[in-house]
Amino acid sequence: MMMNTESSRKRIAVIGSGFSGLSAAAYAAKSGHEVHVFEKHDQPGGRARQFKTEEGYLFDMGPSWYWMPDIIEGFFSDFDCKAADYFKLVSLDPQFEMIFSKEKISVPEKNEDIRELFEKTESGAGKKYDQFMQSAQFKYETGMKDFVTKPCYSWLEFASLKIAGSALKLDLLSNFRKYVSGYFSDPKLRSLMEFPVIFLGASPRNIPALYSLMNYGGYVLGTKYPMGGFYQLVMAMKDVAQKQGAAFHFNHEVQKLNTENGKVVSLTVDGKDYEFDAVIASSDYHHTETLISKSLRNYNDAYWKTKTFAPSCLIYYLGIKGKISHLKHHTLFFENELDHHIDCIYINKKWPAKPLFYACCPSKTDPDVAPESCENLFLLLPLAPGIHDEEAVREKYLKEMLERIEKHTGETDLVSRIQYKRSYCVSDFISDYNAYQGNAYGLSNTLSQTAVLKPKIRNKKISNLFYTGQLTVPGPGVPPSVISGKIVAQEVNKLK
Ligand SMILES: Cc1cc2nc3c(=O)[nH]c(=O)nc-3n(C[C@H](O)[C@H](O)[C@H](O)COP(=O)(O)OP(=O)(O)OC[C@H]3O[C@@H](n4cnc5c(N)ncnc54)[C@H](O)[C@@H]3O)c2cc1C
Repeated sequence: MMMNTESSRKRIAVIGSGFSGLSAAAYAAKSGHEVHVFEKHDQPGGRARQFKTEEGYLFDMGPSWYWMPDIIEGFFSDFDCKAADYFKLVSLDPQFEMIFSKEKISVPEKNEDIRELFEKTESGAGKKYDQFMQSAQFKYETGMKDFVTKPCYSWLEFASLKIAGSALKLDLLSNFRKYVSGYFSDPKLRSLMEFPVIFLGASPRNIPALYSLMNYGGYVLGTKYPMGGFYQLVMAMKDVAQKQGAAFHFNHEVQKLNTENGKVVSLTVDGKDYEFDAVIASSDYHHTETLISKSLRNYNDAYWKTKTFAPSCLIYYLGIKGKISHLKHHTLFFENELDHHIDCIYINKKWPAKPLFYACCPSKTDPDVAPESCENLFLLLPLAPGIHDEEAVREKYLKEMLERIEKHTGETDLVSRIQYKRSYCVSDFISDYNAYQGNAYGLSNTLSQTAVLKPKIRNKKISNLFYTGQLTVPGPGVPPSVISGKIVAQEVNKLK
């Protein structure tokens, strides 16, 4: 990244300190700018915050799947350091378990063992797995190294790249469900291969097969865990940004962006105005636009109503007395039909009658996240954004999730062993993150919401206002949010 001379040094405000804000702050400060990060919460991390309970449980509030470690390592190497300087990354074996109505699949750490698992489950599927992953690797290398690094103002940015010459190999126009079924017949293997795209907030029926790159970035590169929790990455990135000179202002919620002649001139925070030369907003895109007058917004309410948002979710943070045997670090409870649950999110917009859910038990790997002989249990059930989430409904689903964990593990009486309980749902995403309809992961990566078709990284009428994070390019997830911060910092450097 280009270093700025004294005359091009700018005073830049970053709104929000999630992964995209931390990344943008670090890169902008490295370029020589004076950077101030305003965060409404009392700690960094945004959706990846962490909290500790009186009983000694340490909960990561959001992300738990550390995938695409090379992308995250790329952030640290841009600052001449390594993730290992900050935290210990361990590789999970098995990576995760997937529970079906009658059987389960345990995904091993090593690629050759996954291949063997495929072959054992379906004759010939081992070879197909290799072919699938060969193509997924190509997409990962092209997609994650070239495609996602573009600001996406126009398709022309892609014209000179490897991408343009290999459009067919990238499978941009075929749908993921059909693509997977072309390789595998066994329904369990199909579910296993479809699962990663759920991270991108879309149904496998509506997402391009390009995103098999996720299978490579997950299964082949492996599922990692930072000891101390995902929050270690937040703290590490904050440290990197601070070492570059960025200043953090917590408990500072930005209320307004003040503009003059097509430029932001200041931010209003707690009734006080602070002057800046440029603003990078990593706060949720829709919310950021409510901080400027309607006529200056990139998109109106009608636009947002037409967009497909990634799901919201019901989360439970539970401290459980005693160990839960036979539960792995990551477990996917897929005993019911994926399409029923997905239709409840995207089509019917109601609570699912037969839900799927995910359980994360990091105390299986990390003794520091729960008191001795206890378990740290995080349960997540994806939901349609915007639906009503009163306590009684949340509790009903908790009961069902615990019953299914008991059935799978053979444990009894989990309810009476709950030592700590906190629920988190749609309305909490709205109040904590100003999230449109309480979405958890931003906008879905459907074909019509990919690259140039995403909300733009730059305001069209305010020359020095930029957007970053999971609602703009390249999309949802921790690695893309880190990349988004880098792209936006490069764009700010182009300001005259
Ligand atoms: C429950 C959950 C599980 C997830 N699991 C995974 C996973 O396993 N792996 C993965 O890769 N990704 C996962 N994700 C997605 C990933 O966490 C997000 O894509 C990423 O953290 C988004 O970062 P961001 O910087 O765009 O937004 P955010 O983290 O939301 O950061 C925005 C920040 O802006 C602040 N803010 C908002 N308004 C204002 C204002 N007016 N003034 C000041 N500050 C403001 C907010 O407080 C927040 O800190 C998960 C997300 C959730 C919610």
